Amino acid sequence: MTYLSKSPWVIHYDGSSCNGCDIEVLACLTPVYDVERFGIINTGDPKQADVFLITGSVNEQNKAVIKQIYEQMPDPKVVIAIGICANSGGIFRDCYNVMGGVDTVIPVDVYVPGCAARPEAIIDGVVKGLSILEEKRKASEVAKEASA
Ligand code: SF4
Repeated sequence: MTYLSKSPWVIHYDGSSCNGCDIEVLACLTPVYDVERFGIINTGDPKQADVFLITGSVNEQNKAVIKQIYEQMPDPKVVIAIGICANSGGIFRDCYNVMGGVDTVIPVDVYVPGCAARPEAIIDGVVKGLSILEEKRKASEVAKEASA
């Protein structure tokens, strides 16, 4: 596992899910799965968050909210789309107001499959996301040193 230079703070947003994937995200915080053992902290404040977890599909009503949360998060950051609805629109794909998956509005770093996504798959996706976050941190430090 990648060495982390600081505890990652995670923000979770439910796009337009059936709540199945949200329940599995919450399960990751329980003592059974205990993601806090990786130093992960759940926050409601985008300005403190490094990792953006999204469940559910993107629609005309929530696309502005997703963009706003993403833009409020400081760089570097990673986005994890959880469940097939967040990956591609899933079972809601053909609804009149659904645009598709999260990558129709913001860049996605990790796609976690499943309907619902299982806690083990969510934790695996978060660990992958943390490796990507560390790579982005290192790249931004190198860029800062090069421009100094
Ligand atoms: S992927 Fe399945 S469980 Fe998750 S929000 Fe969509 S329909 Fe619900």
